[in-house]
Amino acid sequence: MDKLIFSISDILNRPMGNSEVYSFDVPLDLEYIEKKGNVTGKIEIMRIEDALNVVATNLELTLKAKCGKCLKDFTQKVNVVSAERQFEINKPESIDDENDVYLINMKNYTIDVTEMLRQEIILHFPPVSVCSSGCKGLCSYCGKNKNLAKCACSEPIEENLEQIKPLAALKEFFNKK
Ligand SMILES: [Zn+2]
Ligand SMILES: [Zn+2]
Repeated sequence: MDKLIFSISDILNRPMGNSEVYSFDVPLDLEYIEKKGNVTGKIEIMRIEDALNVVATNLELTLKAKCGKCLKDFTQKVNVVSAERQFEINKPESIDDENDVYLINMKNYTIDVTEMLRQEIILHFPPVSVCSSGCKGLCSYCGKNKNLAKCACSEPIEENLEQIKPLAALKEFFNKK
């Protein structure tokens, strides 16, 4: 399957509980998010009363990301184990939120799972992008990447400053005398 619109005319006419499984490998548009390759996964479409139950499993996507600590570009995997939605035959009479309602396209007997997958992927985004849990980041004094090499500055300077301060104050005290 290379698109996220599935024909459902067959499954719609089958008894309740019948299902179809499709694998997909598609370029999903995520607007401002930079991707590397396609979104892959499986979709199970099951006939239920007045609707189709759609379960997406093993959604996978690789993103281009920038480490928040060392600013290095790296790739990050987003994985959604399982997500479920119901696609209704008829629009429900009372709706809390339009965005939560999924409808079967009854004109050409298809369902479009693009929005469902887009929502799930965004929901499962890692909150902070870091190239690795042990990333040392950039030195706040010289800006060098501390993962690559140890720089001359960093902590020792800070310690020295702390040590110098009382002496300097004392010196100033004696100079004034
Ligand atoms: Zn990093
Ligand atoms: Zn440094």
